[in-house]
Amino acid sequence: MANEEKLDFIREIVAKDLAEGVCKAPITRFPPEPNGYLHIGHAKAICLDFGIAKEYAHLGAVCHLRFDDTNPCKEDIEFVNSIQEDIRWLGFDWGEHLYWASNIFDFYYDCAVHLIRKGLAYVDEQDRETMRKQRGDLHTPGTPSPFRDSSAEENLAKFEAMKAGKYPEGAAVLRAKIDLASSNMNMRDPVIYRISYDSHHNTGTSWCIYPMYDFAHPLEDAWEHITHSLCTLEFENHRPLYDWVIDNCPVPSRPKQREFSRLNITYTVMSKRKLRQMVEEGYVAGWDDPRMPTICGMRRRGYPAKAIVDFCEGVGITKFNGNTDVARLENAVRSELNEHAERRMAVLKPLKLILTNVPDDFEEEVDVVINPEKPELGTRKVTLTREVWIDKDDFMVEPPKKYKRLSPGVCVRLRGGYCIIATGHELNSTGDVTEVRAEIIPGTVGANPPEGIKCKGAIHWVSAKYGVRAEVRLYDRLFKDEAPDANPDGFLASLNAESLTVLKDAMVEPALAAAPNEFLCQFERTGYFVADRYDHSPEHPVFNRSVGLRDSWAKINK
Ligand code: ATP
Ligand code: MG
Repeated sequence: MANEEKLDFIREIVAKDLAEGVCKAPITRFPPEPNGYLHIGHAKAICLDFGIAKEYAHLGAVCHLRFDDTNPCKEDIEFVNSIQEDIRWLGFDWGEHLYWASNIFDFYYDCAVHLIRKGLAYVDEQDRETMRKQRGDLHTPGTPSPFRDSSAEENLAKFEAMKAGKYPEGAAVLRAKIDLASSNMNMRDPVIYRISYDSHHNTGTSWCIYPMYDFAHPLEDAWEHITHSLCTLEFENHRPLYDWVIDNCPVPSRPKQREFSRLNITYTVMSKRKLRQMVEEGYVAGWDDPRMPTICGMRRRGYPAKAIVDFCEGVGITKFNGNTDVARLENAVRSELNEHAERRMAVLKPLKLILTNVPDDFEEEVDVVINPEKPELGTRKVTLTREVWIDKDDFMVEPPKKYKRLSPGVCVRLRGGYCIIATGHELNSTGDVTEVRAEIIPGTVGANPPEGIKCKGAIHWVSAKYGVRAEVRLYDRLFKDEAPDANPDGFLASLNAESLTVLKDAMVEPALAAAPNEFLCQFERTGYFVADRYDHSPEHPVFNRSVGLRDSWAKINK
């Protein structure tokens, strides 16, 4: 734990509870519903839940992974697997503590029966609309249901009948009997059990009554002996109900719920429903499309797990709902990659450069720096040949004043190699440069050019003899508006039509073609790239741009 740093308010509560002996070690849980992939918002919750457990591991703290699967719907094993993979990839582990909320349907049921016996729950046979009208509003208390004062025996018999499938769906619910005048609408006799004849992935058709989230969740927490149940702010006004359930049910422990603000990010949508819609309607290539705010999408984009965790920790845990600038996430990625990514050479838009004053079979091994941030890594060898590829942007026939690259009569260095002077070029019928000729200045590898010649800068290159053709996918933000959710025409109207550019004819050095999948590096002077997790192979190299060298949007917005 970062002892020096100020603790966030949740960690302060945990520290205080430990100091006062409220618990011996914090037990937390991360409770995803297995109905989609995890996104960066979940990462924030994961960093908090698993982070606290990690910080107090020496005391025996653990964080449970609990699949919140009390709704009867088809479980998707794909989601269950991806959730586990993503949490592990972020660097967290639940050890033995994997739970399924649907494994304790008996316990919820027993608690419901207990409430009925105590006169704290009743079966309501009214239709939904009638019950809704009876709830009242902030100024009007609720009206009691005619079933509110039925006897415990009657209610028990009816609840049994619900369980036995004697009612059609929607014909009866179990309600907690709390307070119809409460200013908190959640306390006005909330529904705690409903009927559904859908089959459940775990329990099949054994049950046709299912506990509501607000009833099941505190019971799951209590069953697992969770000490600190951390959730997002929208559950704050559910907390009285959470506590009521804990106070009135025969629970084995007394967990406490605490709420923190959700993570929202600019130029992004974060709800699973919307992400699913984009996948299903084909706006993106899948949940792990590198433009998606999903954890697997970011992984495929080349965002290091460490950068995501750093970002989540940097955003911090507060009670204020805000919108975090996506540039912060991109900066976290950039700073992690700047430090750790090795440098490689790749030319995205190749232009042939011929060194005319060397023999046809000229070959020379030159040294290039592996990572200027880590001088201890030294250099590596790259073969310079008579013909090389340079980037189209690195040559201009009539350059503007401050152009620091190649143009006729001008001297630049081929990264790691010789200083060269451009001596000629070819144009096609539309005036595009198709070939550049240059001469090397002998003796300039690792040395300055002779007096009187000024070297304008260094450009990257790839040997035409040994370079390998590669596909490069340039990803940009998926949305062009800062707040897609606020678009009156719907969030899809904010999609950025230019969020993906595919270059099929990039040229990369041979070491890049041979790189393993998920290899991360900086293409010198171009950006940070990752060998695609699935599509990259030595025969067909594919690289995804993770992030540019600088924040290009900051400029555009100005
Ligand atoms: P969504 O609203 O995207 O569908 P959800 O809250 O329904 O997400 P769950 O699977 O229920 O998704 O979430 C598991 C946990 O992750 C919950 O404890 C929830 O509070 C937390 N969580 C979800 N989204 C965010 C977010 N944007 N920021 C922080 N925590 C989040
Ligand atoms: Mg949810």
